[in-house]
Amino acid sequence: APLKLGGNEGITWYRPVSLQNLLELKANFPDAKLLVGNTEVGIEMRLKRLQYPVLISAAQVPELNALNVNDNGIEVGSALRLSELLRLFRKVVKERPAHETSACKAFIEQLKWFAGTQIRNVACIGGNICTASPISDLNPLWMASRAEFRIINCNGDARSIPAKDFFLGYRKVDMGSNEILLSVFLPWTRPLEYVKEFKQAHRRDDDIAIVNGGMRVFLEEKGQQLFVSDASIVYGGVAPLSLRARNTEELLIGKNWNKCLLQDALKVIQSDVLIKEGAPGGMVEFRKSLTLSFFFKFFLWVTHHVN
Ligand code: FAD
Repeated sequence: APLKLGGNEGITWYRPVSLQNLLELKANFPDAKLLVGNTEVGIEMRLKRLQYPVLISAAQVPELNALNVNDNGIEVGSALRLSELLRLFRKVVKERPAHETSACKAFIEQLKWFAGTQIRNVACIGGNICTASPISDLNPLWMASRAEFRIINCNGDARSIPAKDFFLGYRKVDMGSNEILLSVFLPWTRPLEYVKEFKQAHRRDDDIAIVNGGMRVFLEEKGQQLFVSDASIVYGGVAPLSLRARNTEELLIGKNWNKCLLQDALKVIQSDVLIKEGAPGGMVEFRKSLTLSFFFKFFLWVTHHVN
Protein backbone atom coordinates (compact mmCIF):
# COMPACT_ATOMS: atom_id res chain seq x y z
CA ALA A 1 0.00 0.00 0.00
CA PRO A 2 1.14 3.59 -0.57
CA LEU A 3 2.55 5.27 2.53
CA LYS A 4 3.00 8.84 3.74
CA LEU A 5 5.02 9.40 6.87
CA GLY A 6 5.75 12.72 8.56
CA GLY A 7 8.92 13.17 10.57
CA ASN A 8 9.60 15.55 13.42
CA GLU A 9 12.35 17.31 11.44
CA GLY A 10 9.93 18.64 8.83
CA ILE A 11 10.56 15.77 6.44
CA THR A 12 7.71 13.97 4.67
CA TRP A 13 8.39 10.54 3.21
CA TYR A 14 6.17 9.05 0.52
CA ARG A 15 6.17 5.52 -0.78
CA PRO A 16 4.03 5.25 -3.95
CA VAL A 17 3.22 1.79 -5.31
CA SER A 18 2.33 2.69 -8.90
CA LEU A 19 4.01 4.80 -11.60
CA GLN A 20 0.89 6.98 -11.84
CA ASN A 21 1.07 7.71 -8.12
CA LEU A 22 4.82 8.46 -8.33
CA LEU A 23 4.33 10.87 -11.26
CA GLU A 24 1.52 12.68 -9.40
CA LEU A 25 3.76 13.15 -6.38
CA LYS A 26 6.59 14.39 -8.62
CA ALA A 27 4.16 16.89 -10.23
CA ASN A 28 3.04 18.16 -6.80
CA PHE A 29 6.60 18.30 -5.39
CA PRO A 30 9.01 19.01 -8.30
CA ASP A 31 11.94 19.42 -5.90
CA ALA A 32 11.28 16.17 -4.04
CA LYS A 33 14.18 13.71 -3.90
CA LEU A 34 13.57 10.24 -5.27
CA LEU A 35 15.14 7.45 -3.27
CA VAL A 36 15.75 3.77 -3.71
CA GLY A 37 18.85 2.62 -1.86
CA ASN A 38 19.51 5.98 -0.20
CA THR A 39 23.26 5.32 -0.54
CA GLU A 40 23.81 8.72 -2.22
CA VAL A 41 21.04 10.81 -0.66
CA GLY A 42 21.73 9.44 2.84
CA ILE A 43 25.31 10.70 2.60
CA GLU A 44 24.18 14.08 1.26
CA MET A 45 21.76 14.52 4.15
CA ARG A 46 23.94 13.21 6.97
CA LEU A 47 27.44 14.25 6.00
CA LYS A 48 26.87 17.22 3.71
CA ARG A 49 23.85 18.38 5.76
CA LEU A 50 21.68 18.95 2.67
CA GLN A 51 17.98 19.22 3.45
CA TYR A 52 15.29 17.57 1.38
CA PRO A 53 11.86 18.20 2.94
CA VAL A 54 10.07 15.74 0.63
CA LEU A 55 11.46 12.27 -0.04
CA ILE A 56 9.79 9.79 -2.39
CA SER A 57 10.82 6.16 -2.20
CA ALA A 58 10.51 4.68 -5.72
CA ALA A 59 11.56 1.20 -4.62
CA GLN A 60 8.06 -0.32 -4.70
CA VAL A 61 6.93 0.99 -8.12
CA PRO A 62 6.48 -2.12 -10.32
CA GLU A 63 7.17 -0.29 -13.63
CA LEU A 64 10.54 0.83 -12.24
CA ASN A 65 11.44 -2.75 -11.33
CA ALA A 66 10.50 -4.31 -14.69
CA LEU A 67 12.83 -6.70 -16.51
CA ASN A 68 12.40 -7.41 -20.18
CA VAL A 69 14.71 -9.55 -22.28
CA ASN A 70 13.92 -9.52 -26.01
CA ASP A 71 15.49 -9.98 -29.43
CA ASN A 72 17.10 -6.53 -29.39
CA GLY A 73 18.52 -6.48 -25.88
CA ILE A 74 17.59 -6.00 -22.24
CA GLU A 75 15.32 -3.34 -20.77
CA VAL A 76 15.58 -2.85 -17.00
CA GLY A 77 13.62 -0.56 -14.70
CA SER A 78 15.60 2.25 -13.08
CA ALA A 79 14.87 1.03 -9.53
CA LEU A 80 16.44 -2.38 -10.15
CA ARG A 81 19.06 -3.15 -7.51
CA LEU A 82 22.64 -3.64 -8.66
CA SER A 83 22.72 -7.19 -7.27
CA GLU A 84 19.57 -8.02 -9.30
CA LEU A 85 21.19 -6.53 -12.39
CA LEU A 86 24.23 -8.71 -11.79
CA ARG A 87 22.00 -11.80 -11.45
CA LEU A 88 20.17 -10.94 -14.68
CA PHE A 89 23.40 -10.45 -16.63
CA ARG A 90 24.79 -13.77 -15.36
CA LYS A 91 21.60 -15.52 -16.49
CA VAL A 92 21.56 -14.03 -20.00
CA VAL A 93 25.24 -14.74 -20.50
CA LYS A 94 24.42 -18.45 -20.05
CA GLU A 95 21.35 -18.37 -22.28
CA ARG A 96 22.19 -16.10 -25.21
CA PRO A 97 24.75 -16.54 -28.02
CA ALA A 98 28.20 -15.43 -26.79
CA HIS A 99 28.59 -12.57 -29.28
CA GLU A 100 25.41 -10.88 -27.96
CA THR A 101 26.60 -10.55 -24.37
CA SER A 102 29.96 -8.80 -24.59
CA ALA A 103 28.53 -5.72 -22.83
CA CYS A 104 26.78 -7.90 -20.22
CA LYS A 105 30.11 -9.56 -19.39
CA ALA A 106 31.79 -6.18 -19.01
CA PHE A 107 29.04 -5.10 -16.59
CA ILE A 108 29.40 -8.34 -14.62
CA GLU A 109 33.13 -7.69 -14.16
CA GLN A 110 32.59 -4.04 -13.21
CA LEU A 111 29.79 -4.88 -10.76
CA LYS A 112 32.04 -7.37 -8.96
CA TRP A 113 34.20 -4.42 -7.86
CA PHE A 114 31.33 -2.01 -7.26
CA ALA A 115 31.11 -1.22 -3.52
CA GLY A 116 30.35 -4.26 -1.33
CA THR A 117 27.46 -6.71 -1.15
CA GLN A 118 25.43 -4.57 1.27
CA ILE A 119 25.51 -1.53 -1.01
CA ARG A 120 24.85 -3.58 -4.17
CA ASN A 121 21.81 -5.15 -2.48
CA VAL A 122 20.09 -1.80 -1.97
CA ALA A 123 21.60 0.65 -4.48
CA CYS A 124 19.76 0.91 -7.80
CA ILE A 125 20.74 1.55 -11.39
CA GLY A 126 18.86 4.86 -11.62
CA GLY A 127 20.47 6.24 -8.47
CA ASN A 128 23.92 5.72 -9.94
CA ILE A 129 22.96 7.16 -13.34
CA CYS A 130 21.07 10.22 -12.05
CA THR A 131 23.69 11.14 -9.46
CA ALA A 132 26.02 11.43 -12.48
CA SER A 133 29.14 11.15 -10.39
CA PRO A 134 32.26 11.76 -12.52
CA ILE A 135 33.70 8.58 -11.02
CA SER A 136 30.60 6.37 -11.50
CA ASP A 137 31.80 2.89 -12.41
CA LEU A 138 28.79 2.13 -14.59
CA ASN A 139 28.11 5.32 -16.54
CA PRO A 140 31.15 4.99 -18.84
CA LEU A 141 29.94 1.46 -19.62
CA TRP A 142 26.35 2.50 -20.36
CA MET A 143 27.77 5.18 -22.66
CA ALA A 144 30.20 2.85 -24.40
CA SER A 145 27.71 0.03 -24.89
CA ARG A 146 25.12 2.16 -26.74
CA ALA A 147 22.56 2.04 -23.92
CA GLU A 148 19.44 4.19 -24.16
CA PHE A 149 17.80 5.88 -21.18
CA ARG A 150 14.01 6.17 -21.16
CA ILE A 151 12.78 9.30 -19.41
CA ILE A 152 9.15 9.93 -18.47
CA ASN A 153 7.57 13.23 -17.43
CA CYS A 154 4.75 13.93 -15.00
CA ASN A 155 2.15 13.79 -17.81
CA GLY A 156 3.31 10.29 -18.69
CA ASP A 157 5.09 11.30 -21.94
CA ALA A 158 8.23 9.25 -22.49
CA ARG A 159 11.37 9.97 -24.51
CA SER A 160 14.60 8.08 -25.14
CA ILE A 161 18.09 9.50 -25.02
CA PRO A 162 21.37 7.73 -25.81
CA ALA A 163 23.41 7.32 -22.62
CA LYS A 164 26.37 8.95 -24.38
CA ASP A 165 24.41 12.26 -24.62
CA PHE A 166 22.79 12.20 -21.18
CA PHE A 167 25.61 13.58 -19.02
CA LEU A 168 26.06 17.32 -19.40
CA GLY A 169 28.42 18.43 -16.64
CA TYR A 170 29.36 17.94 -13.02
CA ARG A 171 26.39 15.98 -11.61
CA LYS A 172 24.26 17.50 -14.35
CA VAL A 173 22.08 15.39 -16.65
CA ASP A 174 19.63 16.01 -19.47
CA MET A 175 16.52 15.61 -17.31
CA GLY A 176 14.06 18.25 -16.08
CA SER A 177 12.54 18.55 -12.60
CA ASN A 178 9.26 17.19 -14.05
CA GLU A 179 10.99 14.05 -15.35
CA ILE A 180 12.31 10.79 -13.92
CA LEU A 181 14.37 7.96 -15.35
CA LEU A 182 12.00 5.11 -16.18
CA SER A 183 14.27 2.41 -17.59
CA VAL A 184 17.52 1.57 -19.32
CA PHE A 185 17.80 -0.36 -22.58
CA LEU A 186 21.04 -2.24 -23.30
CA PRO A 187 21.32 -3.60 -26.86
CA TRP A 188 22.95 -6.97 -27.57
CA THR A 189 26.39 -6.72 -29.06
CA ARG A 190 26.87 -7.94 -32.63
CA PRO A 191 29.43 -10.42 -34.01
CA LEU A 192 32.86 -8.73 -33.88
CA GLU A 193 31.60 -6.10 -31.42
CA TYR A 194 33.53 -6.03 -28.14
CA VAL A 195 32.88 -4.12 -24.91
CA LYS A 196 35.31 -3.99 -21.98
CA GLU A 197 35.28 -2.39 -18.53
CA PHE A 198 38.18 -0.75 -16.71
CA LYS A 199 38.70 0.31 -13.11
CA GLN A 200 41.86 1.18 -11.23
CA ALA A 201 41.47 1.84 -7.52
CA HIS A 202 43.83 1.79 -4.55
CA ARG A 203 42.22 -1.44 -3.32
CA ARG A 204 40.50 -4.02 -5.49
CA ASP A 205 37.59 -4.48 -3.10
CA ASP A 206 35.02 -1.85 -2.21
CA ASP A 207 36.97 1.22 -3.28
CA ILE A 208 36.29 4.29 -5.36
CA ALA A 209 38.14 4.30 -8.68
CA ILE A 210 41.04 6.57 -9.51
CA VAL A 211 40.23 6.20 -13.20
CA ASN A 212 37.67 3.89 -14.78
CA GLY A 213 36.34 3.39 -18.27
CA GLY A 214 34.20 1.62 -20.82
CA MET A 215 35.37 0.84 -24.35
CA ARG A 216 33.73 -0.69 -27.40
CA VAL A 217 34.74 -1.46 -30.96
CA PHE A 218 32.62 -2.90 -33.71
CA LEU A 219 34.89 -4.47 -36.32
CA GLU A 220 34.10 -5.51 -39.87
CA GLU A 221 35.98 -7.78 -42.21
CA LYS A 222 37.26 -6.36 -45.50
CA GLY A 223 39.19 -9.05 -47.36
CA GLN A 224 41.81 -10.34 -44.90
CA GLN A 225 41.73 -7.12 -42.88
CA LEU A 226 39.60 -5.98 -39.98
CA PHE A 227 38.54 -2.38 -39.87
CA VAL A 228 36.74 -0.35 -37.22
CA SER A 229 33.13 0.30 -38.13
CA ASP A 230 32.24 2.01 -34.85
CA ALA A 231 33.98 2.78 -31.54
CA SER A 232 33.31 4.24 -28.09
CA ILE A 233 36.08 5.26 -25.71
CA VAL A 234 34.78 6.64 -22.40
CA TYR A 235 36.67 7.49 -19.22
CA GLY A 236 35.60 8.26 -15.66
CA GLY A 237 37.73 10.13 -13.12
CA VAL A 238 39.45 12.41 -15.63
CA ALA A 239 36.92 15.26 -15.92
CA PRO A 240 33.85 16.67 -14.12
CA LEU A 241 31.73 14.12 -16.01
CA SER A 242 32.10 10.68 -17.62
CA LEU A 243 34.11 11.72 -20.66
CA ARG A 244 33.92 10.53 -24.25
CA ALA A 245 37.31 10.66 -25.96
CA ARG A 246 35.66 11.94 -29.14
CA ASN A 247 38.79 12.58 -31.21
CA THR A 248 40.05 9.10 -30.40
CA GLU A 249 36.72 7.60 -31.43
CA GLU A 250 36.85 9.55 -34.68
CA LEU A 251 40.42 8.48 -35.34
CA LEU A 252 39.55 4.80 -34.89
CA ILE A 253 36.48 4.70 -37.12
CA GLY A 254 37.23 3.51 -40.63
CA LYS A 255 40.83 2.43 -39.86
CA ASN A 256 42.39 -1.01 -39.98
CA TRP A 257 42.70 -2.64 -36.55
CA ASN A 258 46.47 -3.00 -36.28
CA LYS A 259 49.52 -1.84 -34.29
CA CYS A 260 49.81 1.43 -36.24
CA LEU A 261 46.32 2.31 -35.15
CA LEU A 262 47.27 1.54 -31.55
CA GLN A 263 50.21 3.96 -31.75
CA ASP A 264 48.10 6.69 -33.36
CA ALA A 265 45.30 6.26 -30.82
CA LEU A 266 47.71 6.50 -27.87
CA LYS A 267 48.88 9.85 -29.24
CA VAL A 268 45.37 11.22 -29.70
CA ILE A 269 44.21 10.09 -26.24
CA GLN A 270 46.90 12.32 -24.72
CA SER A 271 45.35 15.42 -26.26
CA ASP A 272 41.77 14.16 -25.96
CA VAL A 273 41.90 13.53 -22.23
CA LEU A 274 43.41 16.57 -20.62
CA ILE A 275 43.88 16.53 -16.87
CA LYS A 276 45.24 19.89 -15.76
CA GLU A 277 47.86 20.28 -13.04
CA GLY A 278 46.02 20.77 -9.77
CA ALA A 279 42.80 19.18 -11.07
CA PRO A 280 40.54 17.76 -8.33
CA GLY A 281 41.60 14.23 -7.46
CA GLY A 282 45.34 14.88 -7.81
CA MET A 283 47.66 12.12 -9.10
CA VAL A 284 47.64 13.80 -12.51
CA GLU A 285 50.55 11.86 -14.04
CA PHE A 286 49.23 8.57 -12.74
CA ARG A 287 45.75 9.23 -14.09
CA LYS A 288 47.12 10.23 -17.49
CA SER A 289 49.11 7.01 -17.71
CA LEU A 290 46.04 5.00 -16.71
CA THR A 291 44.05 6.41 -19.64
CA LEU A 292 46.78 5.16 -21.99
CA SER A 293 47.27 1.80 -20.34
CA PHE A 294 43.51 1.08 -20.39
CA PHE A 295 43.45 1.60 -24.14
CA PHE A 296 46.59 -0.48 -24.57
CA LYS A 297 44.94 -3.31 -22.61
CA PHE A 298 41.78 -2.94 -24.65
CA PHE A 299 43.70 -3.19 -27.90
CA LEU A 300 45.46 -6.39 -26.77
CA TRP A 301 42.24 -7.89 -25.41
CA VAL A 302 40.26 -7.27 -28.63
CA THR A 303 43.14 -8.50 -30.80
CA HIS A 304 43.31 -11.67 -28.72
CA HIS A 305 39.57 -12.23 -29.16
CA VAL A 306 39.46 -11.82 -32.93
CA ASN A 307 42.41 -14.13 -33.55
P1 FAD B 1 19.71 7.02 -3.92
O1 FAD B 1 20.62 7.61 -2.89
O2 FAD B 1 18.46 6.38 -3.43
O3 FAD B 1 19.35 8.15 -5.02
C1 FAD B 1 20.41 8.84 -5.66
C2 FAD B 1 19.91 9.96 -6.57
O4 FAD B 1 19.37 9.44 -7.76
C3 FAD B 1 18.88 10.87 -5.97
O5 FAD B 1 19.23 12.19 -6.28
C4 FAD B 1 17.61 10.49 -6.67
O6 FAD B 1 16.74 11.58 -6.79
C5 FAD B 1 18.11 10.00 -8.02
N1 FAD B 1 17.27 8.96 -8.61
C6 FAD B 1 17.18 7.67 -8.21
N2 FAD B 1 16.34 6.99 -9.03
C7 FAD B 1 15.91 7.88 -9.94
C8 FAD B 1 15.02 7.79 -11.06
N3 FAD B 1 14.43 6.65 -11.38
N4 FAD B 1 14.81 8.89 -11.79
C9 FAD B 1 15.38 10.06 -11.46
N5 FAD B 1 16.24 10.21 -10.43
C10 FAD B 1 16.49 9.14 -9.69
N6 FAD B 1 29.41 4.11 -6.96
C11 FAD B 1 30.18 3.59 -7.95
O7 FAD B 1 30.00 3.95 -9.12
N7 FAD B 1 31.13 2.64 -7.68
C12 FAD B 1 31.37 2.20 -6.42
O8 FAD B 1 32.24 1.34 -6.22
C13 FAD B 1 30.59 2.76 -5.36
N8 FAD B 1 30.83 2.38 -4.08
C14 FAD B 1 30.10 2.93 -3.06
C15 FAD B 1 30.39 2.56 -1.75
C16 FAD B 1 29.70 3.10 -0.70
C17 FAD B 1 30.05 2.70 0.72
C18 FAD B 1 28.66 4.07 -0.95
C19 FAD B 1 27.87 4.68 0.17
C20 FAD B 1 28.36 4.42 -2.25
C21 FAD B 1 29.08 3.89 -3.33
N9 FAD B 1 28.83 4.25 -4.66
C22 FAD B 1 29.60 3.72 -5.67
C23 FAD B 1 27.76 5.20 -4.99
C24 FAD B 1 26.30 4.64 -4.90
O9 FAD B 1 26.21 3.43 -4.23
C25 FAD B 1 25.64 4.44 -6.25
O10 FAD B 1 25.64 5.64 -6.99
C26 FAD B 1 24.21 3.87 -6.18
O11 FAD B 1 23.94 3.21 -7.39
C27 FAD B 1 23.12 4.88 -5.91
O12 FAD B 1 21.85 4.22 -5.86
P2 FAD B 1 20.79 4.47 -4.72
O13 FAD B 1 19.59 3.65 -5.06
O14 FAD B 1 21.37 4.22 -3.36
O15 FAD B 1 20.52 6.04 -4.88
